[in-house]
Amino acid sequence: KGKKKNENKTTPLMEQYLRIKADYKDVLLLYRMGDFYETFYEDAKILSRTLGIALTKRAHGKTADVPLAGFPYHALDNYLPKLLNAGLRVAICEQVEDPKTAKGVVKREVVEIASPGVTLSDKLLDSRSNNYLVAVHLEEDICGIAVADVSTGSFLVAEFPAQNLLEQLIRYQPREILVAASRLDALQTLIANHLNALLTKREDWLFDRNYMYELLLQHFKTHSLKGFGVEDMQAGIIAAGVVIHYLQENYKTRLEHFIHLQRVNLSRYMVLDESTRRNLEISESISGGGVRNTLLHFIDFTITPMGARLFKQWIQQPLLDMEEINHRLDIVSELVGDAPLREQLAAELKQIFDTERLLGKIVTNRANARDVLNLGQSLKQIVPIKAIIDQTTCDTLKAHFQSFQILDSLTEKIDRAIVENPPITLQEGGIIRAGYHAELDELRAISEQGKDWLLAYQQRERERTGISTLKVNYNKVFGYYIEVTNVHKDKIPPEYVRKQTLVNAERFITQELKEWEDKILGAEEKINELEYRLFQEIREEVGRYVEPIQLNSRLIAELDCFLSLAQAAIENNYVRPEIDDSRALEIREGRHPVVEKTLPPGEDFIANDAYLDPDSEQIWIITGPNMAGKSTFLRQVGLIVLMAQIGSYVPAAKARIGIVDRIFTRVGASDNLASGESTFLVEMNETANILNNATPRSLILLDEIGRGTSTFDGLSIAWAVAEYIYREPRLRCKTLFATHYHELTELALLYPRIKNYNVAVEEWKDQVIFLRKIVPGGSDNSYGIYVAQMAGLPAPLIARAKEILTNLEANELSPTTRKPRLAMRRSGRTYDANQLSLFDDREKEEKETGKKVKQELKKVDINNLTPLQALQKLDELKKLI
Ligand code: ADP
Repeated sequence: KGKKKNENKTTPLMEQYLRIKADYKDVLLLYRMGDFYETFYEDAKILSRTLGIALTKRAHGKTADVPLAGFPYHALDNYLPKLLNAGLRVAICEQVEDPKTAKGVVKREVVEIASPGVTLSDKLLDSRSNNYLVAVHLEEDICGIAVADVSTGSFLVAEFPAQNLLEQLIRYQPREILVAASRLDALQTLIANHLNALLTKREDWLFDRNYMYELLLQHFKTHSLKGFGVEDMQAGIIAAGVVIHYLQENYKTRLEHFIHLQRVNLSRYMVLDESTRRNLEISESISGGGVRNTLLHFIDFTITPMGARLFKQWIQQPLLDMEEINHRLDIVSELVGDAPLREQLAAELKQIFDTERLLGKIVTNRANARDVLNLGQSLKQIVPIKAIIDQTTCDTLKAHFQSFQILDSLTEKIDRAIVENPPITLQEGGIIRAGYHAELDELRAISEQGKDWLLAYQQRERERTGISTLKVNYNKVFGYYIEVTNVHKDKIPPEYVRKQTLVNAERFITQELKEWEDKILGAEEKINELEYRLFQEIREEVGRYVEPIQLNSRLIAELDCFLSLAQAAIENNYVRPEIDDSRALEIREGRHPVVEKTLPPGEDFIANDAYLDPDSEQIWIITGPNMAGKSTFLRQVGLIVLMAQIGSYVPAAKARIGIVDRIFTRVGASDNLASGESTFLVEMNETANILNNATPRSLILLDEIGRGTSTFDGLSIAWAVAEYIYREPRLRCKTLFATHYHELTELALLYPRIKNYNVAVEEWKDQVIFLRKIVPGGSDNSYGIYVAQMAGLPAPLIARAKEILTNLEANELSPTTRKPRLAMRRSGRTYDANQLSLFDDREKEEKETGKKVKQELKKVDINNLTPLQALQKLDELKKLI
C-alpha cells in the first residue's frame, strides 16, 4: 500500500507553494514553474474565471485534486493587465535559482506585487490619465491623503476636514486606496456608488506619525521634511509614509523617481463637489459616454501625454488667485495672438514622447533601449523649444519657461551609445553603437573576424578536399560543424571527427574549427553581457537626472496646456475674460461650450447675457417651458466661470468674472435615478450641502429644485430655499434658479435683489416656437402640452389634455389659478412677506393650512437639519394639509 502512504504526504513543491502563499493571503499568487505561471486552489478558480482559461486538477500526492490553472510565462504581459483591471492584486513568484544546478525544489521568491494602483504596464495605463494610488488617514476630524502615480513619480499630500474626503477622492479618481484595516468598512461605505477603486487594507499600527515620518526621511534621504513644506502635517505625513511603505514592501522596485513630496494647497483651488462636477459634465458625460460631449472634449487640444494629464488636472481645479489666473491668461493671450509661434511650438511638441513615464520605466528598470532613445530624443526638443520662446518679446512667457533644463551631456551620451533602431530585448545585444566602448568594439571584431574565418575555412576545405558542396554550419547541440553529403563520402579526410550521421549526409568537427568556435561564441556571450552592462550604466546615468527631467516634463506639460487653451480659443471663437475680485458676474452673449458644438445641423446656438451681483441682482428666477433652454443657460454660466478661472478664454462676446470660490449645482431630480437612492432625499441632501457651505463668493445653480416631491411640498421648499439664500447674510450669493413653479416669480415682488427672467417662446398657430432667449419678466404658461405634442404623443390624447387643462383652469381646481395672480402683478403693489399667501384663492380652511405650513417652514433651520429630519418634517407638513 505504498500508494496510500504517498497520498498522506504533500510534495515538497506544494509545501513550498503553501509556505509562500501563507504570506500572500489576499493576493493572487502566480507561481512560476518552468515555462508556466501556475495558480492553485482558490487562486486557480479566480484566475480561470477572470481570464476564461481552463481549470484543471493536479495530482500531488494527497493533494491529488488540487484545482490548477496557469498560462505560459510569455503571456504575462497580456494577462497581467486583465487581472489588474479586474481589481486584483497579483504576486509574481519567480524561480530564483537555475533549475539545472538546484538541489531539491528550485528556490522561489515573490519578486513583485502588482496592483491596479501600482503598475507601469503600457497596456494598463492610459497615456492621457494619471494612475493614482492613494493612502487615506483619518484622524478625529482631519483627514490626510497622499496621492502617488508610480508611473510618473508624482507624489502629493493634502490635509482637509474629514467631511470633504469623498470630494477629494473623486477629484483624483484613484485606482487603489490604502486604508487602515479598522477604517476599511467605513471607507467602503463612503465610496460605494461613487468610485471604482480597489481598497487595500494596511495594518493599523502602520498609521503612526513618528514611524512614518522616519520612513519618509529615510526614503528622501533628508533630515526633515521642511524642504517640502509638510513638516507640520500630521495625517498627511502618515498617509505619505503609508504609500512609500506599501511600495517598498510590496512592489520590490526602486523608487528613485519619487524625489518630491508636494503639498497640495487646497485653498488655491475652487471647490467643485461631485454633483457639480457631474452636472457640468466637465470631463465625463452624465449619460456615461465617457469624455464625449464634455467640456474637456471641446477644449483639450493637448499634444503630449504629460500635457493631456496636466490639462485634466487644470480643468478639475480652477484657480482662486486673481494673479495666478491672469498669469495664465497672459500667456494664453500671447499664444492666441501669434499663429507662427503656436505652430512652431506645436511642431516641436509633436516630437516629444511621454518623458514622465519613460523616466519612471527607466529608473524602475523596466525600460528597453528604445525607451532610453525616445527619452533622449524628447529631451533634445527642449533646445529648439527654448530658442523659440526666447525669440518672443513676451516677458511673461520667457520668465515662465526660463527654467527649462538643457541636458546636452545626457542626450549626447545616449546618442553616442545607442543604435538607431535597437531591439526590444536587452539580453541579445545589438544595442550599443560601434565606437562607444573599446572593449566592445574589440569583441565585435573578434566575432566578425571569426565569421570571416569560417567563410574562408569553408572555401579552403572545399578546395583542399575537392568536395564542392561541403558546408560549415551551426547548431545548438554541436556548435559549428562540417557537413558532407554521402556522395562525397570517399573524399573525407582522416582528421575529420564524425559527430552525427544523417540519412544522406554526415557531420564532422575538426580541431581547428573548435578552436575558432570557442573564440566566436565566447566573444558573443561577452558582447551580450557587456552591452547589457553598458546599458545599465546609461540607465543609471539617466537616474542622476531625475530632477531636471521631471522639471522639463512639467514645463512641457504646461506649455502644452497653454497651447491647448490658445487653440481652443481660436477654434471655438472664445474671448479673454476679465477677472477681478468683485462679486459680480457679467457675461455678454454667452454660449454653452458643449451644446453650441453638438446642436443638430441647421440649428444655431442663441447667445444669452447674464448679470449677477449680490448687491443688486443676487438671484435670477428663470421660468419657461420644459425644453426651453433653462438648464443649458444655468450650466453655461457655471462653465464660463469655471473656464475663466482655469485661465481659459470663454465662449462669450465679453465676460467679467468676479472670482467665485465654489460653484454649486442642484439639477433636476430625475437625473439622479441611477444611484438608486430616494431621488428626493438626494435632492435635499445636495440642497443642504449648498446651504451649509456656500459663501457670498459662491455661485449657486439651482435647476428645478423641489421637483422630486408633490407640487405643494416642492413649491414650498423651493420658495423657502430662495428666501433663505436671499436673507441669510452668510450666504447672499449669486444664484440662478430655474423653475417651472411660476409662483416663484412672485418672490421678485417681495425682494428687490430677486429678478425674474424667462426663456422666450412664441406661440404660433398651435405650435410653440422656442426662441432660446433669456428675457426679463416671468413666464406664465408651462407649455407642457405643446412639448408633449412635439414629442409625438397621439393627437387625440393632446386634444383631451387641452380639454382637461381648460376645465381645470375654469373650475379653479388648480391651487394656483392664474387669474388672481396676474391681477396681483398688474396692480404693481408690493407685498409684505407675511401678508402674502400663496394659496389665497383656496377656501378659507386651506388658507389657514397654508399659514400653518408656512409658519412651520419658517421654524425649520435648514442648517441644522439632517436629510432624514427634512423628510420627517415634510411628512409633518403634509399631514397639516
Ligand atoms: P430646459 O432646462 O428648459 O428644459 P434645456 O436647457 O434642457 O431646457 O434645453 C433643451 C434643448 O434645447 C437643449 O438640449 C439644446 O439642444 C437646446 N438649447 C438650449 N439652449 C439653447 C440655445 N441657447 N440655443 C440653441 N439651442 C438651445
